Amino acid sequence: MDYKKLADLLYPDLKHDTDYYENLFPERNLEKGAEVLRMAPSPTGFVHLGNLYGALADERIAHQSKGVFYLRIEDTDEKRKVEGAVEAVIKCFDYFQIYFDEGAEHNPEGNYGPYYQRQRAEIYQTFAKKLISEGKAYPCFCSEEDLNKKREEQTSQNVTPGYWGKWATCRNLTIEEVEKHLANKDEFVIRLRSQGNSENKSTFHDEIKGDITVCENDQDVVLLKADGIPTYHFAHAIDDHLMHTTTVLRGEEWLSSLPIHLELFKVLGFKLPKFAHTTVLMKIDETGTKRKLSKRKDPELALDYYRQLGYHPYAVKLYLMTLLNWNFEQWFLGHPDSDLSEFKFEFKNMGQSGALFDLEKLNNISKTYLSKFSLEEMKNFLKPYVKEFYPERYDMYFGDEEFLDKVLSLGMGMNLKKRRKDYIFAKQILESIDLYYNYEKVDEFTHDESTVKSILEEFVKTYDYNDDNNTWFEKLKVIANNNGFAAEMSDYKANPEGYKGAISDVAEIIRIAVTGHKNSPDLWAIMQILGKDESIRRIQSI
Ligand code: GLU
Repeated sequence: MDYKKLADLLYPDLKHDTDYYENLFPERNLEKGAEVLRMAPSPTGFVHLGNLYGALADERIAHQSKGVFYLRIEDTDEKRKVEGAVEAVIKCFDYFQIYFDEGAEHNPEGNYGPYYQRQRAEIYQTFAKKLISEGKAYPCFCSEEDLNKKREEQTSQNVTPGYWGKWATCRNLTIEEVEKHLANKDEFVIRLRSQGNSENKSTFHDEIKGDITVCENDQDVVLLKADGIPTYHFAHAIDDHLMHTTTVLRGEEWLSSLPIHLELFKVLGFKLPKFAHTTVLMKIDETGTKRKLSKRKDPELALDYYRQLGYHPYAVKLYLMTLLNWNFEQWFLGHPDSDLSEFKFEFKNMGQSGALFDLEKLNNISKTYLSKFSLEEMKNFLKPYVKEFYPERYDMYFGDEEFLDKVLSLGMGMNLKKRRKDYIFAKQILESIDLYYNYEKVDEFTHDESTVKSILEEFVKTYDYNDDNNTWFEKLKVIANNNGFAAEMSDYKANPEGYKGAISDVAEIIRIAVTGHKNSPDLWAIMQILGKDESIRRIQSI
């Protein structure tokens, strides 16, 4: 068979040969030991925690070695493509402050681009043509129906399904037969002519999993689909070679197709990169069962979940680091003020099986992280969140920063010794300061109208903005006495029938009147923030 003729017949119009691309994308000019890694999402519209988990590992390995971290969009599957998905990926990673050195939308010219696989069709076809001309790949005209028939026969004969060995009938097509198909305009795919034997086993070193046994690939896998767009396998080999990836870090779901990739790198004559297969993220669900995080069942799998609620990106990353490297937590305890980039990230300290995701722990890390914020840091954290998710409130909060400072420092207790340490994300903070900006009577009074009225009237009459917390409370006791409530809890407990209620009930009535809620932070402090006029206005609106 004249393979060169076959290659020209299939691809008569390609502008370049493979040498052209090898020269166009030369070795990167990096320091010795510098690693090149990539994040290669498919634009399906769903960016998940596993993506961030992998990206953080990519980014750390690349940047701590003074290497390159780039973004490649794997958009070969038209069916799974979702409008706006690329923007969503980029937005998400920006939020989490994962920065790419090059790649899609970052340095669009790039040195190794284009970084969208659909735009690289000609490159893949050029390499496929070379393989065809060497007899290492061939066109296959089998229809879906032909393939199904083969599969049925294979099942009934109990042999491995797929396009291989004697089942790979298009391997033997003559030039004339191919010409006839082409004249007929029959659709075709390009397949690898596999040289492997699945009975041959060898040891392969994975950076995370260690030494693993792999069998040779013997399947004539599809390299280019009927529309000339590559499969994941082929695009992975070509791109990671031409973009000079030194370590392919990806999810362990790709481990089963590693034999295909090993054969592809071999037949293409490419140097094999290192491979690092990360474990899946697991959780213990409500029933106590350990299982994979699921898109359908677990909203916390979506990265947007954290962005929408306003988790601090750094806190999420700190948590993911504890999952990525078992010794990170210990290191962080010893270096609480250091940036996580100072930690030496190593593959050997990654878990080999199922990382257990624990939202509770992430929340605790967030709480601790936020509880150390200064007032300025807190405002800088809230600003972009409000801008994106509550733009209509932006001026309300940031138009009067003096008031906001009071709300945050006094209301959130940021300037107190015993500051609140239960804030996890921005949305929750905004909810808790809402009472300073909006008045809505949510809870009802539990005492009769005339008691409420009398207490509130007396409170308004005696209220002095300049009273300190103690004086304020002493006045409340007087009001309690005057209205048949026990001023001391102990008195009330000793004789509950003798009173309408206790001092706490008096406070509750004022609290509901001022904040609209039965529960709130310190009432005196709230009134200090609201000011006399607003406090009285609220009470009198009852
Ligand atoms: N596009 C593949 C995915 O989204 C990337 C796998 C890889 O990193 O090689 O799973």
